[in-house]
Amino acid sequence: MHLKKRVLVTGGAGFLGSHLCERLLDEGNDVICVDNFYTGSKRNIVHLIDNPYFELIRHDITFPLYVEVDEIYNMACPASPIHYQNDPVQTTKVNVHGSINMLGLAKRIKARILQASTSEVYGDPSVHPQPENYLGNVNCIGPRSCYDEGKRCAETLFFDYHRQHRLKIKVARIFNTYGPRMHPNDGRVVSNFIMQALRGEPITIYGDGSQTRSFCYADDLVDGLIRLMNSPDEITGPVNLGNPVEFTILELAELVIKLVNSKSRIIFSSLPQDDPRQRKPDISLAGNILKWEPAIKLEDGLKKTIEYFNGIRTKYV
Ligand code: NAD
Ligand code: UDP
Ligand code: UDP
Repeated sequence: MHLKKRVLVTGGAGFLGSHLCERLLDEGNDVICVDNFYTGSKRNIVHLIDNPYFELIRHDITFPLYVEVDEIYNMACPASPIHYQNDPVQTTKVNVHGSINMLGLAKRIKARILQASTSEVYGDPSVHPQPENYLGNVNCIGPRSCYDEGKRCAETLFFDYHRQHRLKIKVARIFNTYGPRMHPNDGRVVSNFIMQALRGEPITIYGDGSQTRSFCYADDLVDGLIRLMNSPDEITGPVNLGNPVEFTILELAELVIKLVNSKSRIIFSSLPQDDPRQRKPDISLAGNILKWEPAIKLEDGLKKTIEYFNGIRTKYV
């Protein structure tokens, strides 16, 4: 028999959080979505509002929160460089103060808690692809540090609460993920290229486009997060979740132009500071312990994402 769980999703009105809320509701759970709408939007969850098992709380997790749930997915944090660098002190606060509050909550109510960590904890990696035991190459004083070091400190807090207070923790290191409900102006490569291609504007490649990324579709990622949450207590992670198929940024630009059937041309500009040269997850651990691997090919995921951006383009952007 499937038992209904009460699940808290912080950052539930964001891109990934909203897909997660939807999936948890579909599986028959009670979902509390907490969000301060810093980068998230009511538009992402408006279709869930009438569901009696869905509850929305406007709240900033850097302040204490008192609710009663069985599981917590801690997704709250601006994720794109433009957004997290807009108020870098707040970015560190959400990762440190926010994590302490959610861990304190989990401790009081004995809930399982999952942290949405990131491949950015590896920084500009000197090991390729990155396994979970690679310790990373992170600049602690650069423009990306508020996010990278904030997320590293959050992982430290999760493991200290686990060791010190026996908390049931799960840490997922998420690699670049894309899909419908990404913020159209978040400056990330997939959203930028699709919006530029749809508008017929030049596609802006930073650097020469030879840097690589691997792109995971949102549904695959959410599936990995839920598998991790449902895994036995002794599985704490960190576990890499992402799609290991690697593309250069130039290849991505060409694919988007083809799928949109766009007349956009490609232009090149300078590479931002500390921009990682290459990034690709080693997902063998997730394969072994969660029996998880992404199923959706970049071309198929991009088609769905293009359809979404085309739909909102005229209405909101
Ligand atoms: P997003 O910006 O769409 O979602 C983040 C959500 O958190 C937003 O709804 C925002 O309003 C909310 N939020 C921010 N600060 C908050 C606060 N103080 N209190 C309450 N809510 C707050 O980003 P996303 O891409 O959905 O990312 C979700 C999580 O996954 C983040 O923690 C991010 O670091 C992590 N992650 C995402 C990716 C990716 O490629 N999308 C990769 C690695 C890690
Ligand atoms: N906290 C919360 N909700 C709760 C319990 C705790 O938001 O239900 C916050 C509270 O602000 C506290 C933090 O979590 O400061 C850390 O809690 P913990 O019990 O670890 O430490 P405390 O600071 O209470 O000693
Ligand atoms: N990028 C680009 N053009 C853009 C946006 C991003 O060439 O319009 C590059 C960026 O420099 C980086 C890669 O695409 O090398 C991925 O950038 P994104 O911000 O999406 O993610 P992250 O750097 O955090 O992996």
